[in-house]
Amino acid sequence: MKEDLDIFRELALGLLQEEALNPVAPTVSAEEIISLVDLDIEDAPLSEEAFKKSISGLLKYTPKTSTPEFFNQLFGGRQGKAVIGELLAAMLNNSMYTYKVGGPMIMMEKSIFKKLKTLVGYPTTAEGTIATGGSMTNFMAMLMARDKYAPEIRTSGQGPTLVAYTSQESHYSVDKNAVFAGIGKNNVRKISSDEEGKMNVQELANAIQKDKAEGKLPFFVNATSGTTVLGAFDPLREISKICQQEDLWMHIDGAYGGACLFSEKYKHLLDGCELSDSFSFNAHKMLGVPITCSLIITKHKKCMYDSFSNEASYLYQTDTDEINPGKISLQCGRRNDALKFWTLWKSVGTNGLKDMVDHQYHLADIAREYVRNNADYTLYNEGPSVNICFNYKGLSPDLLCNSLYEQSELMIGYGSFKGVRFVRLVTINANNSEKDIMNFFEKLEAHAETLLN
Ligand SMILES: *Cc1c(COP(=O)(O)O)cnc(C)c1O
Repeated sequence: MKEDLDIFRELALGLLQEEALNPVAPTVSAEEIISLVDLDIEDAPLSEEAFKKSISGLLKYTPKTSTPEFFNQLFGGRQGKAVIGELLAAMLNNSMYTYKVGGPMIMMEKSIFKKLKTLVGYPTTAEGTIATGGSMTNFMAMLMARDKYAPEIRTSGQGPTLVAYTSQESHYSVDKNAVFAGIGKNNVRKISSDEEGKMNVQELANAIQKDKAEGKLPFFVNATSGTTVLGAFDPLREISKICQQEDLWMHIDGAYGGACLFSEKYKHLLDGCELSDSFSFNAHKMLGVPITCSLIITKHKKCMYDSFSNEASYLYQTDTDEINPGKISLQCGRRNDALKFWTLWKSVGTNGLKDMVDHQYHLADIAREYVRNNADYTLYNEGPSVNICFNYKGLSPDLLCNSLYEQSELMIGYGSFKGVRFVRLVTINANNSEKDIMNFFEKLEAHAETLLN
């Protein structure tokens, strides 16, 4: 293993060099790449030199998500202290289902949830776990709600017609999860959003009444805190009022914006989150932890056990349920995704996480002001949001973004809201400085001019 660590170090240092040299990896089509990179697997083992060479080739052409030129997704940058945790988790190779196999790692994960409970404002009896991503933590919430309101589904596979509610701007996993959960995507109501991208609460109330009148059973409302395109936050307090009146499970999909809990300045965006039944958030988005690290926490510990606990004498042989979190997992074997979040949090403290979130909003303010004060741009969303949606000189956003990618200039994508398409800049990389943001605009404008001429 010692030699392998030397190989790793050499490759990782090479990667850092490559990132500095080519912050956007050379853009090559999927057809061409197979002739450029040594991908085929042979019968005979490789020499160490050949092994390193084929890996370096692979690294060279892989998109670089940690550089200041990557704005394509809702993650970016690299937090070294989190990477330490990620690498150690691979070295240790524990599985997070029992205390017998996870040891103190089980308690380490619990200490994260202990903090999170306080931040969300849930009682100390709340329970939490980690799944493979925001889609899956949202799935867990929907399953808990389904099993609470129609427990017979667990045994017979049959039950009432359940209906879930989410906004038009919410993540596509809500539909997908309704399919997985046997609820059916025709039983997901897409509630329209207002001009800022927030759920229309009156329409939610009306839709619930209509479904009840038709003999259906409304059971679940998914509120989004940080929508994918605009970075908008649904009004949690108003939604919770309806959920309490109608006895519905209120889940908050904070995969994107949940990290605002850490910011004194922006946690008002999550005002009322303590009134929800469950809350999920991705530490691999705004907090820069390597993919994936998605946490879910619920007030209803019993519901978590009711939905996810199964007896297994070959697995649970020691200790109590309390320290055998396999009893509340979606899967069986579970990687230690907590450690990378814990190493980051431990090293920078809660104040450090707060600074990261505040810095991203600060960069967004800089970018939004630049766009607002420049007549060549059209701005499509107001803050606070780390998403800045704009067009430049009426250029088609897909043409502009695709051309920037093809020329290996910038990785940036487009989105649309109420039928209008625009470039979506996200200031999610906490390693970026104001200068990096101004460089982004400079590059985009220079490239746009070549397309306009
Ligand atoms: C990213 C995101 C998800 C999905 O999370 P994954 O980890 O990619 O599965 C769900 N909801 C929202 C609002 C998101 O931004």
